[in-house]
Amino acid sequence: MESIITSHAKEIGKLERTGAHSHIRGLGLDDKLEGRPNSQGMVGQLKARRAAGVIVKVIKQGKISGRAIMMAGAPGTGKTAIAMAMSQELGDVPFTSIAASEVFSLEMSKTESLTQAFRRSIGVRIKEETEIIEGEVVEIQIDRSVTGVGPKSGKLTLKTTDMETIYDLGQKMINSLTKEKVMAGDVIQIDKATGRITRLGRSFTRARDFDATGPDVKFVQCPEGELQTRKEVVHTVSLHEIDVINSRQQGFLALFSGDTGEIKSEVRDQINQKISDWCEEGKAEIVPGVLFIDEIHMLDMECFSFLNRALEDNMAPVVIMASNRGVSRIRGTNYQSPHGVPIDFLDRLLIISTQPYSPDEIKQIIKIRCDEEEVEMTDDALEVLTKVASETSLRYAIHLISTGHLVAQKRQASKVDVVDIKRVYSLFLDEARSVQYMKDYQDEFLYNEIAPSGSNDM
Ligand code: ATP
Repeated sequence: MESIITSHAKEIGKLERTGAHSHIRGLGLDDKLEGRPNSQGMVGQLKARRAAGVIVKVIKQGKISGRAIMMAGAPGTGKTAIAMAMSQELGDVPFTSIAASEVFSLEMSKTESLTQAFRRSIGVRIKEETEIIEGEVVEIQIDRSVTGVGPKSGKLTLKTTDMETIYDLGQKMINSLTKEKVMAGDVIQIDKATGRITRLGRSFTRARDFDATGPDVKFVQCPEGELQTRKEVVHTVSLHEIDVINSRQQGFLALFSGDTGEIKSEVRDQINQKISDWCEEGKAEIVPGVLFIDEIHMLDMECFSFLNRALEDNMAPVVIMASNRGVSRIRGTNYQSPHGVPIDFLDRLLIISTQPYSPDEIKQIIKIRCDEEEVEMTDDALEVLTKVASETSLRYAIHLISTGHLVAQKRQASKVDVVDIKRVYSLFLDEARSVQYMKDYQDEFLYNEIAPSGSNDM
């Protein structure tokens, strides 16, 4: 008997985790949606966090779709961090994150690329009234606690109805996990007979490889009662996944390679029709999720006009955009506009602004980053680094944590001290010093086009 069990780490609802924001666990709000000064990795920015919390609440209640929100603020004021925190709070709701420049590719048109991003952010909960039988597709979510990467909380959840299978697979999985290089968020396939695990693809990206040993790997099974009695199975998939699976040239493997190409509009029309029939029959439910578009000023007029229309659709997700630009040119035109976003489009956005941090808030953020990067730092060094951050940028200061740690290790010190910060401060330039260096030595660079000072020649 063919006994392959394919397991799916939930792809939707996950956001690409970059190291820069791995300390963010949520918005850090209390029951009244007031921000706690320092909670779940988030510091300060209370007003913006509260506004984000209100939006998360209404999204969770399924009350809004097709709204667009703009996070506006200076670089390094936590726009992306707050968007990440929102995704964590949303949990089961699809969340897609793109940079606006990704829309410009030779492989597909801008509108197709935006359409795919939209449909990735719309979930469909499909209810199935059958019992899961042994050997069927089960869902295994490998969390970061299991892989030893990132936050330590979380569990490995294995969902199937058959307790024996669960236990058996759990054991085999633990054994193989130590041999195969499996990373958090991997979509894996388990051969039930041999227990062999094959990596099929990624659901989100982590840079570091998994290398946990046996005892660190925990296997937590779902509550027994639920498993034995549950008859209704609910799958949540994104509209984009349904598109890809149903588009005949692509097949579902394209989901893993990411090479989905353009999808015909007839395919999408048919799918929309089918899903709306299912919704009417009570078999499915649409879950509008969130699409986060960073660097929104990189979009051009055509994209904005597309977004304007797409947001009118009753299945549209909530679109969150971020920009650190002031008044700038709208791409592809000669018009200037705030954030490089056309005024009429700006008018339909809810705008959340982020404020610069106080030195104390900066200090707390740096401290959190030190904990996250497992770096010990003396109070004096923390003080110096806070000053560096205030005078340069928070991002630059954060970069000096791990580099400072390397330098400290070189002199066999367990804690990063002021000397280490000084050393890395002189080794790596911040933006202002780099610009100054360019100005001082511009004549010695190749293809220098700036006219020498004092000369008016063009
Ligand atoms: P940009 O406009 O340049 O994209 P941004 O506003 O999106 O900047 P982030 O990338 O979110 O800024 O912030 C820079 C770094 O500081 C990140 O590592 C982020 O996680 C951290 N950070 C920013 N704000 C906070 C905060 N309130 N609490 C904890 N960490 C934060």
